[in-house]
Amino acid sequence: MYHINLHTHTARCHHARGTEREMIEAAIRAGIDVLGFSDHSPQFSDDRALQSVRMSVDEAPGYVSVIRALAEEYREDVKILVGFEAEYLPHIFQPLRGLCKTLDADYLIMGQHCLAYADGLSYESVGARIAGGRLCSPIHTLKSYVDTLIAGMETGCFTYVCHPDMYYAADIGEDEYRREYSRLCIMAKELDIPLEVNNLGFTEKRTYPSDRFFDLVKETGNKLIVGVDAHTPEQIDKSHIDATLEYAEKTGLEIVEMPVLRAPWKHD
Ligand SMILES: [Zn+2]
Ligand SMILES: [Zn+2]
Repeated sequence: MYHINLHTHTARCHHARGTEREMIEAAIRAGIDVLGFSDHSPQFSDDRALQSVRMSVDEAPGYVSVIRALAEEYREDVKILVGFEAEYLPHIFQPLRGLCKTLDADYLIMGQHCLAYADGLSYESVGARIAGGRLCSPIHTLKSYVDTLIAGMETGCFTYVCHPDMYYAADIGEDEYRREYSRLCIMAKELDIPLEVNNLGFTEKRTYPSDRFFDLVKETGNKLIVGVDAHTPEQIDKSHIDATLEYAEKTGLEIVEMPVLRAPWKHD
């Protein structure tokens, strides 16, 4: 039985559904003791595509205050935290860190859904893209994805890495795959940052969690964490979480229940 989930969204990101209260009640039913909301962080950028799947900067204070009030209301039943899931986008990371300080956010988790082009103003998804009628790896390289994750981890701001194997690497040969992804695993181990086994990806049979990736994680000896990545209350489902946990346990690695919450902005 797994008792923590730090990866929960709200409808503010425009691609999740349900109220915060419904999410909390689903978590209680699933036996979760610590529920962290980590909706996609607002982006301090004019990129339209990115903004269409994120809360706005103006919505962030309401997001935190609604959840803090519910945390108080439900404090006998579940411990509720509030933070964000965020990309590490170096050009716009400082304002995000400032927002975390202003709102006294409990934590950040790194979910690198996209990478910035050189201008720092526009972004490319790291999921699969369609070219020539078939699914292909992104234009950005696996190397730049891993470099970005390493730089993000080195900021000391991220409590863990969500779906680290999100980069769609079907076209990537074994040598390059191992060379690049092992750098990520080694750095996460050195910095003692857990890597997530993503429950939503597992349940929906997405390209992550990837066996190829978790073989490498097993060799490196990383710590793991299970994140529900709930975009609806129904996704906080005990049987789904148990199945994801079982997948994680097969690696034989340590599965962290409560990670160290890294929130350096609280000490600025
Ligand atoms: Zn999402
Ligand atoms: Zn997420």
